[in-house]
Amino acid sequence: MRAAYYEGDKKIRIGDCGTATPAAGQVQIQVSHCGICGTDLHIFHGNMDHRVKMPQVIGHEMSGTVTKAGPGVEGWKEGDRITVRPLDYCGECPACRAGHSHICQKLKFIGIDSPGAMQGIWNVPVHTLHRLPANLSFEQGAMIEPIAVACHDVRLGELQRGEYVVVQGGGPIGALIALVARNGGANVLVSEINPHRLRMLESLGIRGVNPKETDVAELVNRETGTAGADVVFEVTGAPGAAAAMTALPRVRGRIVMVAIHAKPVPVDLFRFFWREIKMVGARVYEPEDFEKAIALAAGGALPFDKLISATLPLEGLADGFRQLEGGGDVMKILIQCS
Ligand SMILES: [Zn+2]
Ligand SMILES: [Zn+2]
Repeated sequence: MRAAYYEGDKKIRIGDCGTATPAAGQVQIQVSHCGICGTDLHIFHGNMDHRVKMPQVIGHEMSGTVTKAGPGVEGWKEGDRITVRPLDYCGECPACRAGHSHICQKLKFIGIDSPGAMQGIWNVPVHTLHRLPANLSFEQGAMIEPIAVACHDVRLGELQRGEYVVVQGGGPIGALIALVARNGGANVLVSEINPHRLRMLESLGIRGVNPKETDVAELVNRETGTAGADVVFEVTGAPGAAAAMTALPRVRGRIVMVAIHAKPVPVDLFRFFWREIKMVGARVYEPEDFEKAIALAAGGALPFDKLISATLPLEGLADGFRQLEGGGDVMKILIQCS
């Protein structure tokens, strides 16, 4: 079995994979597929070197099969098809005690803070496992994690059937939020500046507009009879989008902050007051979001053939990063890990 090691400075080395027996409370997985996430690209670019212990196997959007159960593990056996919710929490901090272990105050994100899935054999805590139904392929199974992100965002946005939704940003997560929202009966508009992504959205049957060409606030106003959008998802992380987002929600509308705005940016707080807008942050996912994502995927609600752009061998990982850097016609690239 092989593994892809990130060694810093845009270097990936393919080497042998460890095959340690699973410790108590762990299971050993044979990884089938692992998607390349925007986060992995950040790591590749060296932006997360303060968290990644090099050389390290990265990757967290995976599918695979249980090969061994460690001591004390019950309910899982060799051959079980699974995906992993890559969150390891302490169980003791105030957030964990309050029932929010998915954003534990000492959260370890598996694949960033500890070794990830881009290897043939991988040991993970048993509490991270979700079962994949027989009608989902391993390729589709590797898409459950980003779909679960979208399910979490839509759930925290308290989206109701028939509501008008604007998604700012039409990358993989923005597109998945649009698909999950549409599946929930929403009327969805995506604002996106990249022409490749706009074409991709069109192929998914999602309406996209370029905010450089169209006044999105004016469009939303017109289409909602001056009311404004019920829910706005900010997924771009661009300061201009944070400045623009408050013009969109209706009175008592909601904004869901999905993007990572690493630095403080100007936001029109007057609009929050004037329209009694609510904003909620949405980070990663909880177990029910994984279950919802699996149900949606297994129910045939998602156009996987268009969402998965390519599947590459482990040796193709660096090439996959370069394709994503190009920002062209790529949505999700999967790596075949064993
Ligand atoms: Zn991801
Ligand atoms: Zn905790």
